[in-house]
Amino acid sequence: MQARSRLPSPYRPEADVAALTLREFGDALDWPTVVQRAAPWIRAVRDHPPPFWAMETLLREYPLTSDEGKALMRLAEALLRVPDADTAIALTADQLAHLHESSAMAESAMVSEPNSTHSPAHLSALSRLSAAALSLSQKLLSSNDSMVTRLGGRAVVAAALRAVQLLGRQFVFGDDMHAALSRAQTLRASHPALSFSFDMLGEGARCADDAQRHFQDYRAALSLLARQRGSQGDGISVKLSALHPRYEALQHERVMDELLPRLWILCEQAAAAGLHLTIDAEESDRLELSLEVFEALLARIARHHAGWQGFGLALQAYQSRALPLVTHVIGLARHYRVRLMCRLVKGAYWDAEIKRAQELGLPHYPVYTHKHHTDLAYLACAKALLDAPDVIYPQLATHNAATIAAIVKLGEGRRYELGRLHGMGEGIYREVLRDASLHCRVYAPVGRQRDLLAYLVRRLLENGANSSFVHQLYDDRVDMAELLQSPLHAATATALPLPRDIYRPARVNSEGLDLAVPEMRATLERAMEQLLLPQAQAVDAAAVAVRAADAVNTAQRAFERWSTTDVVDRAYTLRRAADLLQERLPLFSAALVREGRKTWNDAVAEAREAIDFLRYYANEGERLMMPHALPGPTGESNTLQLRARGTWACISPWNFPLAIFTGQIAAALITGNTVVAKPAEQTPRIALMMQDLLRAVGLPDDVLQLLVGDGAAGAALVEHPAIAGVAFTGSTDVAKAIQRALANKDGAIVPLIAETGGINAMLVDSTALPEQVVDAVIQSVYRSAGQRCSSLRVLCVHDSIADALLPMLAGAIAELRTGPADDWRTDLGPVIDAEAHARLQKQLSASVPASPSGVSRPSAATDANEHEATSASLLMKPQLCMVTQVADVSEEIFGPVLQVVRWTGDPLQVIRQVNALGYGLTLGIHTRIDSRAQQLANAARVGNVYVNRGMTGAVVGVQPFGGEGLSGTGPKAGGPHYLLRFCSEQTVTRNLSAAGGDIDLMSR
Ligand SMILES: Cc1cc2nc3c(=O)[nH]c(=O)nc-3n(C[C@H](O)[C@H](O)[C@H](O)COP(=O)(O)OP(=O)(O)OC[C@H]3O[C@@H](n4cnc5c(N)ncnc54)[C@H](O)[C@@H]3O)c2cc1C
Repeated sequence: MQARSRLPSPYRPEADVAALTLREFGDALDWPTVVQRAAPWIRAVRDHPPPFWAMETLLREYPLTSDEGKALMRLAEALLRVPDADTAIALTADQLAHLHESSAMAESAMVSEPNSTHSPAHLSALSRLSAAALSLSQKLLSSNDSMVTRLGGRAVVAAALRAVQLLGRQFVFGDDMHAALSRAQTLRASHPALSFSFDMLGEGARCADDAQRHFQDYRAALSLLARQRGSQGDGISVKLSALHPRYEALQHERVMDELLPRLWILCEQAAAAGLHLTIDAEESDRLELSLEVFEALLARIARHHAGWQGFGLALQAYQSRALPLVTHVIGLARHYRVRLMCRLVKGAYWDAEIKRAQELGLPHYPVYTHKHHTDLAYLACAKALLDAPDVIYPQLATHNAATIAAIVKLGEGRRYELGRLHGMGEGIYREVLRDASLHCRVYAPVGRQRDLLAYLVRRLLENGANSSFVHQLYDDRVDMAELLQSPLHAATATALPLPRDIYRPARVNSEGLDLAVPEMRATLERAMEQLLLPQAQAVDAAAVAVRAADAVNTAQRAFERWSTTDVVDRAYTLRRAADLLQERLPLFSAALVREGRKTWNDAVAEAREAIDFLRYYANEGERLMMPHALPGPTGESNTLQLRARGTWACISPWNFPLAIFTGQIAAALITGNTVVAKPAEQTPRIALMMQDLLRAVGLPDDVLQLLVGDGAAGAALVEHPAIAGVAFTGSTDVAKAIQRALANKDGAIVPLIAETGGINAMLVDSTALPEQVVDAVIQSVYRSAGQRCSSLRVLCVHDSIADALLPMLAGAIAELRTGPADDWRTDLGPVIDAEAHARLQKQLSASVPASPSGVSRPSAATDANEHEATSASLLMKPQLCMVTQVADVSEEIFGPVLQVVRWTGDPLQVIRQVNALGYGLTLGIHTRIDSRAQQLANAARVGNVYVNRGMTGAVVGVQPFGGEGLSGTGPKAGGPHYLLRFCSEQTVTRNLSAAGGDIDLMSR
């Protein structure tokens, strides 16, 4: 695997990077001349709108931020793939039910430009049709007459479908390559300055079959192009994620072994025919990988097709590393002496980049957050490309009039071409290309309806975003000066809060690492080399009771002092612990990999969760432990105060040996309790490390005691008469045993917080996007080798999409890699120990029925001898098997095993069956019907419901975690009610007039 980045870190302060870019760009451009050139184009477009005016009008009438706009976008994303009429009606009704009668709708229904030379009838009809569909449906679907509703529903769906199809057609060049080529020929006849880059629409590959299909599509497209006369300047754009199901930084080896040869075949084909082939730019975490693939291809091209000038790469200006990237690519071209076509774009995944950085708690954003920084970087990159005519033919793709005008200025006397997406920028380019010396390439997506949805949504977002030039162009309220503002200045801070600040003012978010960045991986590798796990001596069976009593007595003696320590001081200790843990995150992550058999991703996420627990409970403690004044009659004061209960037993599991261990004890400690913690027998050393860390920041030794041992140690602890409360996370059976033990004790009634497992289900209806479901399932079932209490166990797929979805899922499962936890490539590490492995094998052979569908049969990966278990023999291959109904799933299988049920009829019935299992931890719902999602969530007796995403990885303070029924007692960990259970409550009522009279009343 690559050890060092070719580029600077993607996570640098935006202000610095923008200032640097500005400095490098210097005074290369006189902005007033740009304005002078662009202004007439804009005036002309506004005066004589192009055909696509209708769509822009629609987006202006229904901005994406409005309910109408959201409805439109969601219909566009889902409606075309829904297989049956009833569901299509339900989806349409659901989305249109959000709408309000508005004047905008009425007006928009009137939009029509029948006489415009630029408005073919079908395009102007689009706006009317959509508006009519929206308004008609609203009326019909609100009717109480069910017959009318139904008949009306069909008509409305038909209209909405038509509207979405027309929307799609604006952006899709042809249903297949034959249609696309003939359209290109026709267009070129009237516009000789056009050339085309054909893009095969479709989602990224999830399995080998998808990748193979996409590969064949690209091959066929190249063959057709090669045979087509007059297409020599054309070519294709290739998405590497479509050509390999694991095009990810950590799968580097596979990508180089499997994707590279495939891509080389395409390159050879393109080179032989003199066509161009450009690698599309995708998400920033794939940038380094794409560069490596690119360089490997360059080396081969230099050897075998040195004269070919059609190879290229798309570069995104919104990335904070854009300029060094351009310099690097120019350097490569010179090194290999290959002439390249370099396409410069601003970038299409901005929202996804921001979200990922926030979720991973990265130090900065990998993309700019100020639009004008993206524009500035674009110009700087364009200049760099234009300044390298010896090796680069720049393809400068943008729909922004100011950017185009700047390019024209920068490009004086240079060879380059402009670029636009089919269906966008028509108006501006109509004006720009009046200059016959300019050339434009059209990015021309090809594909059928089913494949265009994701692309369509990206284009809608782009057209609908307030910051987007095309959106502003059609908005008369945006005047020329605003539209043509200079981007040549650098802001001093990010426009969005940094990932570490998204929970401010409450607390700092924990910082994570991006494992796609070699330097960040290296930090973890170094930590692993330095890791020295402490020795942990389990308590001898004979001495368990004595040791437990010793620990409890010590903690009890500390109670008086600790419980009367100011909560602010206790919170200070926890916050210092959080800061130190943040500093030592790599070391703790390494410990989690080594002792907890976690993969690196899971380990970093867990260390972050522990940090979040410390900070969150510190805040919550300060909030809750303050005396609370209550109202009362005059002459009396009433206060309610929470108080520590005493010494708590905190019994934590091996599957989150740091996060749950830390969460339990932090909650007990902040509320003034002292703790005897019993970590899982499989993972005591991580607990010892955390205990050391807490002591290092000033937690008195006696306040937190550790009892290392097995179940007997836990039982001895629970049974000790002085234990004032038990926080337990583990199996339902042990939780019940603890409950019984506590009930049998004499003395005080002792509270128990139990978090246990679940038979967690995910319900998928026919509006769901299969690729998204597959991603969510893979993450929810197989991460941590299925050893999370939140893991998905039963997938319930609607029968109408099961035949398409299940093979894709089986294919994606086949791509997962099982291996040692510390191997970067590993998706599923070993299960925790030989006992767990043996239990899983037994469950698999005994309780999982054979697959009636033949998708996959349960089988154990190894037949390890329990007594000779090594890490390798603890591996379990991911499993998927069919069951007939939810009720057939009788027990939780705590490993990488998914059971699948097909359902038809009422989804509420499925939820009722899930409820009947008696567990109630997590539930996943995949549907685009919002009201259905809410209805199912309301009906589900579970603690955590996740809609249209994976169902694991709850974030502290964001998704408080915990269930009901057989899944636990609550209150939820990481939620606002958790600390209350650690406390007793006391009210103090004081008679203020006892000393003779009511001074306050008398002095009013
Ligand atoms: C021929 C062609 C090929 C393309 N190929 C690719 C490709 O391979 N990969 C890819 O990702 N995209 C690709 N695109 C899409 C392209 O990224 C978008 O069309 C482009 O970003 C739109 O920019 P603009 O200059 O037309 O519009 P503008 O409105 O000037 O810019 C919009 C862009 O600015 C950025 N932006 C928006 N808000 C902010 C903000 N707050 N802070 C910082 N930046 C912001 C976003 O990237 C947004 O897309 C391609 C486009 C064309 C025309």
